[in-house]
Amino acid sequence: MTNKPVLMVVDDDPQVLAAVRRDLRSHYRDHYAIMSAGSGAEALTAVNELKARGSSLAMVISDQRMPGMLGVELLTQVRATYPTARRVLLTAYSEIDAAVRAINEAHLDHYLSKPWDPPDERLFPVVDDLLDGWLAEYLPEAKGLRLIGHQWSPRSHAIKDFLASSLVPYRWLDITRDAEARRLVEAAGVAEHDLPVLLFEDGSVLCNPEPRQVAERLGHPLSAAFEVYDLVIVGAGPAGLAAAVYGASEGLQTLLLDRHAPGGQAGSSSRIENYLGFPNGVSGSELTRRAIAQAQRLGSEVLAPLEVTGAFVEGGYKHVTLADGRELVTRTVLASTGMAYREHPAAGVADFTGAGVYYGAAVAEAPAFAGRRVLVVGGGNSAGQGAMHLARYAEEVHVVVRRDHLRDTMSQYLIEQIQKTPNIHLRTRTEVERVEGDGRVERIALACVGDDSARVEAFDAMFVFIGTRPQSEWLPAGVLRDEKGFVLTGRDLMASPDFPKVWKEPREPLPLETSVPGVFAAGDIRGGAMNRVASAVGEGAMVVRLAHEYLALT
Ligand SMILES: Cc1cc2nc3c(=O)[nH]c(=O)nc-3n(C[C@H](O)[C@H](O)[C@H](O)COP(=O)(O)OP(=O)(O)OC[C@H]3O[C@@H](n4cnc5c(N)ncnc54)[C@H](O)[C@@H]3O)c2cc1C
Repeated sequence: MTNKPVLMVVDDDPQVLAAVRRDLRSHYRDHYAIMSAGSGAEALTAVNELKARGSSLAMVISDQRMPGMLGVELLTQVRATYPTARRVLLTAYSEIDAAVRAINEAHLDHYLSKPWDPPDERLFPVVDDLLDGWLAEYLPEAKGLRLIGHQWSPRSHAIKDFLASSLVPYRWLDITRDAEARRLVEAAGVAEHDLPVLLFEDGSVLCNPEPRQVAERLGHPLSAAFEVYDLVIVGAGPAGLAAAVYGASEGLQTLLLDRHAPGGQAGSSSRIENYLGFPNGVSGSELTRRAIAQAQRLGSEVLAPLEVTGAFVEGGYKHVTLADGRELVTRTVLASTGMAYREHPAAGVADFTGAGVYYGAAVAEAPAFAGRRVLVVGGGNSAGQGAMHLARYAEEVHVVVRRDHLRDTMSQYLIEQIQKTPNIHLRTRTEVERVEGDGRVERIALACVGDDSARVEAFDAMFVFIGTRPQSEWLPAGVLRDEKGFVLTGRDLMASPDFPKVWKEPREPLPLETSVPGVFAAGDIRGGAMNRVASAVGEGAMVVRLAHEYLALT
């Protein structure tokens, strides 16, 4: 049996099957083994055999109309065995509407319409693209980076979160559940109190590291290459990433920084359904992977994790201060540090953060809750997406909201998805009163809104998606903000009563300019932001044009 990852094609029509197999072989046989099956049942048997042998399955392309089992049913079942394998539906042109519906419901990756001639235009680009995404997540069995620690340790959570956000494939092993983990830790001579530990493929070991040490060990750059930049972008969410792409492509010496990893809130989304150009939705990590590659290819520097703690203006230049004391010098700054969730005020929450209480989607944690009972707090789109993602693993997902419905806070498509998912339970007019447990979340007290009597229920985790606040503390005092801390720009800035006190230029501020000339803001950090990936990306792109205008004035 070959060690190459497998591309499987399934069709009950022998001629079509032979044609797809021939085309795939002609293009992919050097790196992938091409397998075929004539029915859904045959394909499932082959998938289970592959799993039993420890082989990797990269993609399944299946015809939709097959007797016995529809393609979409087969592809839904494949996901349970190989969650990261890319799944593509092959469909006749006349059935595309039905295919798109099926794709939405079963969260497939793509559809291909028959005929796919010429394959150079209609087959290989799609398959190449999907395989790139698969390869980015792929970690061969028993190879690569391993992280060993305790599931309920906040330190382990921090490293998992960092590796997942940085798009570094790794294997997580829980020391309390996994015999292999114990064996590996003993063989490496690592004491229990030194966990979590990272074991690298070359045999080297990093005990209880900070994310920054992990980044250094992985060879991520953490030092700026130039003394002076045209544009320093603080925050690598969609706004910052877009500015990095446009800044570099339009000739600005551009540096992008993030205190965590590129991606921002969008990077933590399991599926963004409404971003232009991705009809089947796109995961936040996939969008981030593409954006970083694009920004770097065009010449932007990307440094993470590096936290910015301050900024000031001196001698016509802006100085950006890093948490480690270093300073960067630049002609313009973009503040794109977005928003973060506020700490949930219920009793006990602070004690369990990272030990069963997680903020945002915590995509890296979801698999650890397979078969468990978890709570999602919040009624916005991010909570809806988080619940849908968790429902793939957890036995029960309870969504708690204070209102008596979701329709004012969540998009209709997500409400419908939640209604159709049997293991998601919506609990309206409910709030979290207390979190309890011994070293980890074990019980949560829930109360009806306006009623004092709380009911204690068993839960293994609580994912919080409420109470956002702008991350604008690092900006100089001269940058005007609204009462919640969101940054004022352009016209909103001119409407502020404090504007005449701080703005001393003989011109009006540019549209996304703050009250400090040459310091711009884009995305969720701005007062009046749209809180959408597309609007953040649009504003990030606009800033580059405005930075050029500003530089021409100085
Ligand atoms: C789970 C989830 C799902 C979502 N789904 C959708 C969706 O389907 N469609 C949609 O349109 N929108 C969606 N959104 C909203 C969308 O993601 C945000 O509107 C968008 O990410 C805002 O982008 P941004 O660049 O302004 O900031 P952010 O994405 O918030 O990024 C800010 C970045 O700045 C960094 N940073 C903060 N402070 C500092 C500092 N001091 N130094 C250095 N770096 C710093 C952070 O680490 C972060 O990476 C979702 C949000 C969430 C949380």
